[in-house]
Amino acid sequence: MGHGEVGLTPEHAMIPANLLRRIRNDLPMPVTIAALGNEAPPSKHSDGYYRFLCPNCREMKATVNPRNNLAHCFCCGQNFNNIDLLIRLGYNFRSAVALLEQWLLRYQTQEAKKSNPTPPTVPK
Ligand SMILES: [Zn+2]
Repeated sequence: MGHGEVGLTPEHAMIPANLLRRIRNDLPMPVTIAALGNEAPPSKHSDGYYRFLCPNCREMKATVNPRNNLAHCFCCGQNFNNIDLLIRLGYNFRSAVALLEQWLLRYQTQEAKKSNPTPPTVPK
């Protein structure tokens, strides 16, 4: 028999659902892309949105929706969350989760240190 459905692999089962939810929702995608450094896809701000080079179709049309922290590509229609993005860049699922967890902790520590509740600034 086959390996069953996507999302039900033992690999996924070992990672708490709550952690997966936090790294998808609580770590803004622009922070993830900044943290990727020179592995990051090219990105820019335009019309009030953060956009980056779609790893699927290679058009500058992947646009982050700040409400759900998902990127949608207006060229090929793909949606990406933080985990999808790292997997697209060549990480396996477990290393993507481990890295995003570190970045989430670092991000939340930095946010907690800020005395003023201003929105995070994103490098241009
Ligand atoms: Zn695309």
